[in-house]
Amino acid sequence: METTPAFTGLQCTGCTETYGVETYDRCPSCGAPLDPTYDYDAVDTAAISEADPRNGVWAFDAVLPFTAAAAISGAEGATPVVETTRLANELTVDSVYIKDEGRNPTGSATDRGMSVAATAVKRHASDADIEPIALPSTGNSGQSAAAYLGGLDLRSYAFVPSRSAFSNKAMINVHGGEMRVVGGRYADAEDAVDQQLKTEYYPLQEFRTPYRHEGAKTIAYELFADFAGELPSHVFIPASTGEFVVGIQKGFSELQTLGLITETPKLIAVQPTGCSPLVAAVERGLETPEPWAVPDTICGELEVPKPAGGALALEALAASGGTALHVDDSDILSSAVTIAKHEVIEAGAGGGAAAAGAWTYAEEHGFDGGETILLLNTESGLKTPDILRSHLMGQGI
Ligand SMILES: [Zn+2]
Repeated sequence: METTPAFTGLQCTGCTETYGVETYDRCPSCGAPLDPTYDYDAVDTAAISEADPRNGVWAFDAVLPFTAAAAISGAEGATPVVETTRLANELTVDSVYIKDEGRNPTGSATDRGMSVAATAVKRHASDADIEPIALPSTGNSGQSAAAYLGGLDLRSYAFVPSRSAFSNKAMINVHGGEMRVVGGRYADAEDAVDQQLKTEYYPLQEFRTPYRHEGAKTIAYELFADFAGELPSHVFIPASTGEFVVGIQKGFSELQTLGLITETPKLIAVQPTGCSPLVAAVERGLETPEPWAVPDTICGELEVPKPAGGALALEALAASGGTALHVDDSDILSSAVTIAKHEVIEAGAGGGAAAAGAWTYAEEHGFDGGETILLLNTESGLKTPDILRSHLMGQGI
């Protein structure tokens, strides 16, 4: 499998050591995540500015490690931005858009990074015996991994906590992936990968494979195309491991390096109050988040007490001039339900968190009135319709 002309390899985000594409885990010398690097002088900027966003993630292979021709793809990305004038009026800003990542092949934004990571798996599997492949997952990424690896006929395991959504568990099996349901929460599923496999494995977890956040960065490139270069002023991102915060900031930063934009949007990471390690770190001025001691949120996808990309996410938020804030579960669910009621969108808890975050930001920081706000709906409402509906019933509806 060929790599793209501008791709130069992998660099450690800790010790800055460089590695070739044959490395597929964290830095062998210091254990920090690896990040794909490029010779930006060699990137064909016309290929970026003229890319058709309807082609999704791989429309932007000029800034990805692998070519579109080599990709394992389900036409991921190419998600629409849907304007909501009601929210713009209520928040008293110029405009509000929802980028609906729920329309990805398996219903969540994780498909972007999984497409790039699975493409790397295909390459590595042709050179060596890399089985088994494994990842811990709150649910969505396990479903996505099963879908993307399905055609490769490799043994792969998703370790999910017992609390993860039924839709995720069912579809992991339907796509032909092996599943291990671990009693407890996400941290228990993380521990179980090493405890149960007792062997070397090929990791697909965020920030172990260098490619999940790399695929996520295509959200930034698509927004560049969606808004014809006039990017939103604020992007609200539901945050757990840091994958989307880190990826999106990398994309905007690259667009700036390539001379295609002059300013980058402020990124605001939104976490549930019951599990908000990034927010606590921002408030305390830490460089690395401390693990959240007692995670407790109904939004299972956002319950990640020890974000694998935590330090990188804090760096990305600071570089964007943004911040992190927390919102209560009831506000997350109310926002998701309100979006579903007023717009033709089925937002999951992730989308609800983004909208609730915009409200909180308005209260804490205020908007001037001229802003264009982007809310990232990271998952379809169909992932957890039971949670959304029970929220309504809790209100007597
Ligand atoms: Zn290192």
